[in-house]
Amino acid sequence: DLSGQTAVITGSTSGIGAALAEGLAANGANIVLNGLGDLDSIKALRARIAKDHGVEVRYHAANMLKPDEIAEMIAFAQSEFGRVDILVNNAGIQHVAPVDEFPTEKWDAILAINLSSAFHTIKAAVPIMKAQGRGRIVNLASAHALVASPFKSAYVAAKHGIMGLTKTVALEVAEAGITVNAICPGYVKTPLVEGQIADTAKARGISEEEVVRDVMLAAQPTKKFVMYDELVGALLYLVSDAGASCNGTSISVDGGWVAK
Ligand code: NAD
Repeated sequence: DLSGQTAVITGSTSGIGAALAEGLAANGANIVLNGLGDLDSIKALRARIAKDHGVEVRYHAANMLKPDEIAEMIAFAQSEFGRVDILVNNAGIQHVAPVDEFPTEKWDAILAINLSSAFHTIKAAVPIMKAQGRGRIVNLASAHALVASPFKSAYVAAKHGIMGLTKTVALEVAEAGITVNAICPGYVKTPLVEGQIADTAKARGISEEEVVRDVMLAAQPTKKFVMYDELVGALLYLVSDAGASCNGTSISVDGGWVAK
């Protein structure tokens, strides 16, 4: 039961972040949403989560490229709710290209959003968590925090980097009742991916099952997408009292991908 706790989830206006925010709300946490997108849809998401789960939901528009705005977001959570118990660093972007053609501005943006933004949120949240004597920091990494794939140099570098940040901060805050861990998902079934399955099946003249197995999930042993609820389950464990000794490590939710 997370009643009375405050959770800040970066990049929670869509996909995994929205699902994690909802999972925490369903267990009673008050929520600070963050992310880009159309303000009307964000308003609707905010109202729906609040209504469905009977919790308080706020939104802060901090751009994860801007350290000052990130610090303001954590201060906003603290001033709205008086505490920051759970920080989920989830915002992320991707760009796929060979390293010798990789646009430098994409490299800089991926490192800033997928890695440095977590440094800035953590830097602002740790003093609050220390004063509370408890805190939970969970970084949404990736199977690509542990293994590589070609053409994703910036993403893989940032995700490996966030594992290093996870371990280092875990050591620094271990005696303060704070844990820092990462969740490493494989391919997740986002609405965007679902649309692609049907389109690819049509384009190639094969079944949707074949698209998933042979085209999209060639690397993932289960040949199944990871579902949002499976990530919510890992997150709920990490933020619970039962997760108190799980520190500085990662939970892979990838259907066996990194076991290969
Ligand atoms: P998504 O595109 O659906 O969501 C990304 C979120 O980040 C959105 O809310 C977006 O607005 C936000 N965001 C992007 N740039 C931002 C910025 N500059 N400032 C603030 N917010 C910003 O993506 P997703 O698939 O839900 O990914 C979420 C996280 O999970 C990412 O860190 C991603 O690397 C990781 N992940 C995803 C998968 C997958 O298969 N989808 C697999 C492993 C890891």
